[in-house]
Amino acid sequence: MDCVFCKIVSGEIPAQVVYEDTVSMAFKDANPATPVHLLVVPKKHADSLADTGDLTEAELGHLLKVAAHVATDAGVGDNFRLLINTGEGAGQSVFHLHVHVLGGKRMGRLIG
Ligand code: AMP
Ligand code: ZN
Repeated sequence: MDCVFCKIVSGEIPAQVVYEDTVSMAFKDANPATPVHLLVVPKKHADSLADTGDLTEAELGHLLKVAAHVATDAGVGDNFRLLINTGEGAGQSVFHLHVHVLGGKRMGRLIG
């Protein structure tokens, strides 16, 4: 499968990895939208949140715990935003499930 995040997980292409465990990996986004912009991915491939394949609920929940952990390590543990674009129409460009961890600048409300 030609998946850029699978290749990062396998080490085939480089990334600035900030965290790794048996289930997940977190690395810096190559084109950061905010001063802190990390991506948390499951090591097992899943296309998106709309098609999570054989990821378990525990593994999906783990991604949130890791997102908070890497936000804290990056110094933005009190103020960060998680984003999961799902589907091309919602801005997803890499079809390997990933959680954006955004922080380091004041962010306006998106809704409400
Ligand atoms: P999305 O548009 O939600 O699918 O997010 C994909 C993100 O992956 C974008 O913010 C890209 O900047 C980022 N990205 C794409 N290729 C790489 C890469 N090789 N290393 C790190 N980040 C990447
Ligand atoms: Zn993949």
